[in-house]
Order: sequence, then structure tokens, then C-alpha cells
Amino acid sequence: MQTKLYIDGEFVEALGGGKIEVFNPFDNSQLCEIEEARAEDVDRAVEAAKKAAPQWRAMDAYERGCLLLKLADAIEADAENLIQLEARDTGHPVRDARMLDVPRTARCFRYFGGMADKFEGHLPPVYPGFVNYVQNEPIGVIGQIVPWNFPLMFTSWKMAPALAAGNCIVIKPAELTPLSTLRIAELMQQVGFPPGVVNVVPGYGQTAGQRIAEHPDIGKVAFTGSTATGQRIVEASAGNLKKVQLELGGKGPNIIFDDANLIAAVNGSAWAIFHNQGQACIAGSRLIIHEKVADAFLEKFVGLAESIRLGNPLDETTEMGPLTSKMHQERVLSFVEVAKKEGGEVLTGGAAPEQEELSKGCFVKPTVVRAAPDHTVSHEEVFGPFVAVATFSDDDEALAIANGVTYGLGSGLWTQNISRAHKMAREIKAGMVWVNSYKVVHPGSPFGGVKQSGYGREMGFEVMREYTQSKSVWVNVDAAIPPHYPR
Ligand code: NAD
Repeated sequence: MQTKLYIDGEFVEALGGGKIEVFNPFDNSQLCEIEEARAEDVDRAVEAAKKAAPQWRAMDAYERGCLLLKLADAIEADAENLIQLEARDTGHPVRDARMLDVPRTARCFRYFGGMADKFEGHLPPVYPGFVNYVQNEPIGVIGQIVPWNFPLMFTSWKMAPALAAGNCIVIKPAELTPLSTLRIAELMQQVGFPPGVVNVVPGYGQTAGQRIAEHPDIGKVAFTGSTATGQRIVEASAGNLKKVQLELGGKGPNIIFDDANLIAAVNGSAWAIFHNQGQACIAGSRLIIHEKVADAFLEKFVGLAESIRLGNPLDETTEMGPLTSKMHQERVLSFVEVAKKEGGEVLTGGAAPEQEELSKGCFVKPTVVRAAPDHTVSHEEVFGPFVAVATFSDDDEALAIANGVTYGLGSGLWTQNISRAHKMAREIKAGMVWVNSYKVVHPGSPFGGVKQSGYGREMGFEVMREYTQSKSVWVNVDAAIPPHYPR
């Protein structure tokens, strides 16, 4: 297990001598101590990235892509190790890590490895006598800050397009879950990424994160995390007017119409909220159900929630692991009290599980709460296995509830009526809409939010534009336009 900072191609100690304790949320035992990067380490990392930038940018894009493809192969070869690391560090059940986190990480590096030499500029038709071409140039040094809920996968989402576009990186994993990002750095070292192209600086938000956001030589900061931190990053970034990309919180509406296939809707909605212990920005954390089918839906949904197997993430049969930290477990449980105080009805869950073998871990039972749309739990992000349920009587009401929060990230709707599906998809204020499904993501399809869920997009050609800046080149081919001061 690598525990040092990765700067300029080497694993090094932090200058300030600080350490971060890393815990296993299954039993709160200490996994290891890692070096804590502070501002001076971020500065070293930025220097290394600046030094590496000209050569990385000038490299044949095909060669850059090949390195990303080699990394994807190395990730697959290292899959079992990464699965174990992610399960111990975050509490993700190994079956989720095996089915999703690791393959999606490899796929993301592979997708952008392929993209590296296919992201074209363009040639606008301009005045006769001129050729104008627009090329996409790398920004230079990119700062990247990721949260703890999907550390491995988000590392790939951040790194892969930025590198494919020809940038160098200083990335800060979350202080709670740095291990898989450090392992990726080891694999990058092994497959031959040049020193300085990627630098990993695990540290706390207020120190290392803040320095990344304000650093004058970082041209762009890409952030995934809470809305409150996103606002602080925007303020800190103002000094050099760096580009900012924000993937922030969500409060995903998941609408069940009275013509939905209920079995599919129950299963898909349980996945929408309970996968990854509900710690997903796109989670379908608000169930909005047509009153005609609410009782039938909830009976099945609550039954399914109660049957989810909580357990040790390392056990292959575990379907739900612990939340990622003790503090977060307490925060999620505090929302149960808030819900009750405001008149919400807990239909199931609302507590830590009773089993003795889970008592040391950060577990919360799958929780379903009936709450009015104006209750706190219906508009604040809980970020746990906690879903707030409301009912509606017509499409307009469903839409008003869905759009009645400050967030706009993921959303879902379950109906067999095709025109209703398209109309709702058009009207919902969100970056992503899933029809008769939920939480499907692919490196080719844009991912991001509107309103206080942030701006900018991950994935696809859109993210390549986010990690480049266009340059317009005008060539006067036959002097068709006379000079302005003819003599
Ligand atoms: P957080 O904002 O507390 O932390 C995220 C990262 O920011 C961490 O690496 C942290 O160290 C760093 N950070 C904290 N303070 C900072 C500061 N002042 N300056 C710079 N960096 C700082 O969020 P979290 O609790 O780790 O993650 C959960 C949040 O992330 C939820 O709100 C969730 O919705 C959001 N999220 C959004 C997406 C998305 O794509 N939209 C995806 C996953 C998670």
C-alpha cells in the first residue's frame, strides 16, 4: 500500500511532516497513515507539472493515448488488489467494486486513451481569401479535487480526459480515501508516464485543497464535492481567473407514474438510492410517486429495502457496506431526527443495524421516510441510504415537486407513456434524466448538473472542450481583403 505523495515521478515524504490516519469504516480500525500534503507540497507538485507540461503537450497525441491504454490494461491486471483496497478504504462492497468501480475506471482510461488523437479542431467558413482554423490547445496545469464517495472511479473521470487533452495534473484525493488514487499513481509510474505529468497530493481541503484552488500557475481547477466547498473554490480561484469546473451535490427526483412497470420501478429505484450506501451525488434520493400506485409501490419498495444484505464489504454476498466515515454516519442519522421532528414518517430503517458484528462500523439501515416536499429531508442532500417520499396527483404537480429544489443533477422517471417521458425529460431541470432506468453512466455521455449542482461537464467530447482552450488562427491566403491603411 503506497502511503507517500507522488510528485515528479517519485513517491516522497511531505515537507511538513504531517500524517493522515486512514480508517476502515467496517470496524473503524486504522488501515495506515499516509503523508499529508500541505501548501508547500502542492507548490512542489505544480512546479513538477509545469516542468513536464511542454514535453507532454508536444508528444504525439497517439503516444499519449497509448499510455492511457496501457494504464487501463494495468488496472485490469491489478483489479483484485484495487477491489480490496477500495473496499477497505471506502466500505464499497467488493461485488460493487468488481462489477462497477474497477471496470468503469479501466473503461474510462481506455475511452479517453482512444480519444486522445481523435479530438479535432474545426474550420469555420469565413471570408473569401482567408482560412480560419480553430485548434484545441491544452490549458497547461490542471488542479483536480475529488471526494470520498467513488475515489477510484472519480480519479479516472478527472485524470483521463485532462491527460488525453495534453495537460499535466496535480490531483488531491479526499483525505478519507486516498489509497486507490495512490495505487493508480504507482501503476502510472510502472507503465511509463513521464515524471511530473501526474502528481498526487493527498491532504486536507482547507490546506492542500485551498492551495490548489488559489494557485496562480494552475490554469483550471476541476472539482467534485459539496456545493458549499464549490463556492469556496470559486472564491479562491478568482486571483488568476482560472477556469473552474464544478460537479456538486444533488437531490435527485425519481418520479413513479401510475402507468409505470412497478416491478422494474421498485428495483430501479432501490438501486437509485441504495447503491453505494446512497453516497452518490446523482442518487435518486426523492421518490415522487403517483398517489394511485403509492401504496402498492411502497409495500414492495420497503420490502426490498429491508431485504438488502448489510455486511462486511469484503464478503462477496454483502450488498450494502458501511458509510465511509463515523462522522458521516452520525450526520445521516441526524437527518432521521430532523425528519421526525418536522412530521416525517419513518417507513423503515432510520437507525444503525442491530447486529453485533456490524456495531463497530459506520452502518445505516436502508431508510425510507414519508415527508412533505417542504421538509428539510426533501430538499437538503443527506448523502446516505435515505430516501424521502412524496406523492402527487398529476404531471404538473410531479414536475413542480421535482424542480422545487436548488439542485439539478440526476433525475429519473418511470412511465410507459412515450410522450409523457419525452415531455417530462424536456421539463425537468437536471443535467441527466433516466427514463425507466437510473444511474446509468458512460464515458461518452455528458455528466454534470445545473443550478447549484454546478457547471461544466465530465465525459465525452464535452469534457475534452472543458480541458482545452480554443485558438483561432487567421491566414490571409490571397490578400482578398485590402489592408486598412492602403498607401
Ligand atoms: P467536500 O466538498 O467536503 O470535499 C470534497 C473534496 O474537496 C475533498 O477532497 C476535500 O478535501 C476538498 N475540500 C474541502 N474543503 C476544501 C476547500 N476549502 N478548498 C479546496 N478543497 C476542499 O465533499 P465530500 O463530503 O467529500 O463529498 C460529498 C459531496 O460531493 C456531496 O455533496 C456530493 O453530492 C458531491 N458529489 C458530487 C458529484 C458530482 O459529480 N456532481 C459526484 C460525487 C459527489
